Amino acid sequence: MAQIRIENVRKEFGAFTAVQSSSFTIEDGEFFMLLGPSGCGKTTTLRMMAGLELPTSGQIYIDGEEVGQKPASQRDIAFVFQMFALYPHMNVRGNISYPLKSQGMGASQIKAKVGEVAEILGITDILDRPVGGLSGGDRQRVALGRAIVRDPKAFFMDEPLGALDAEFREHMSEELRALHDRMEATTVYVTHDQLEAMQMGDKIVVMNHGVVEQFGVPQDIYDWPATKFVAQFIGSPPMNFLDFNGMIGAGHNEVRLNEVSIRVPDSIDGANGKLTLGVRPEHIRLDDGAPYRGRVLATEYLGTTQIVTLDTANGMVKARVPSSDKIRVGAATGLAFDERTITVFENDHGHALR
Ligand code: ATP
Repeated sequence: MAQIRIENVRKEFGAFTAVQSSSFTIEDGEFFMLLGPSGCGKTTTLRMMAGLELPTSGQIYIDGEEVGQKPASQRDIAFVFQMFALYPHMNVRGNISYPLKSQGMGASQIKAKVGEVAEILGITDILDRPVGGLSGGDRQRVALGRAIVRDPKAFFMDEPLGALDAEFREHMSEELRALHDRMEATTVYVTHDQLEAMQMGDKIVVMNHGVVEQFGVPQDIYDWPATKFVAQFIGSPPMNFLDFNGMIGAGHNEVRLNEVSIRVPDSIDGANGKLTLGVRPEHIRLDDGAPYRGRVLATEYLGTTQIVTLDTANGMVKARVPSSDKIRVGAATGLAFDERTITVFENDHGHALR
């Protein structure tokens, strides 16, 4: 299996820059997510790593070897596309063994290998069935079988579950993750779905407008977003932003928000000017005694929790509180923030202050 490293990789299509200078490392055996909204450059990044697109500049290393200008055929990567196209005139066994036949592998070795893969995917009993009558799930498994049968260095998947309905999608994503954990194969997975990325990924790269906004493990990205874009893109409802004009002295950990002192994490170096306080909905408590005030505009019941929308002097804020809390629309209340989880952003570039 493989470690994949990209260094200062950039891609231009004519005058348009699809991927700005980007660098990150995918460790051997990782399930790695390329996440971002439509058009952010994630597919182009994947295609450059696969050798289907040449970078305008920068280097791509697979296991330490620079492969940026090498064709896809020399990179030993299996691509799983959204449309799991199978050969309709072959049965399941024929489809899975096809890549091995093309490599010239002997019949008995092919039989053993296909048997092994079918066992992993739980499709041994359908090996001799035509692919035409298979369910959606079995078709996906056969397509995966065809990808994993030849032990490539890495698997690349571009929105592989994009065409499935929600329930089946969740089921297949669990299967994919379990398959990865059994095989420990380096997997790079493109998605625009932040929940999918958080649930499945060991690490995530978040991209926006061709720029890598953040790279890290899901929990760090959720708890410590590097930019306002990441803070809004990850989490549902997203992080609240409270704009204010303020000053944080180096070594101090308080800001004045609408005349109320709010404690922020100790790690901020100091800043002043137009700042934004970022706080996740689940890190706000509604407490009548708290000095920072708001008025309840609406509540949304979600089972064990409810989302409360409040109007404050710094804009609209959403809090996630237990459903057992009695909330009255129109009532004034205090908002208490959990200081350990507050992120302060500077407004010029939207970067988090640490
Ligand atoms: P999506 O999820 O919609 O596929 P994406 O994040 O994967 O989005 P890319 O497919 O990488 O985005 O495309 C990034 C940008 O580059 C888009 O604006 C796209 O129109 C542009 N682009 C991609 N391929 C080409 C090409 N061959 N020629 C010109 N522009 C391209």
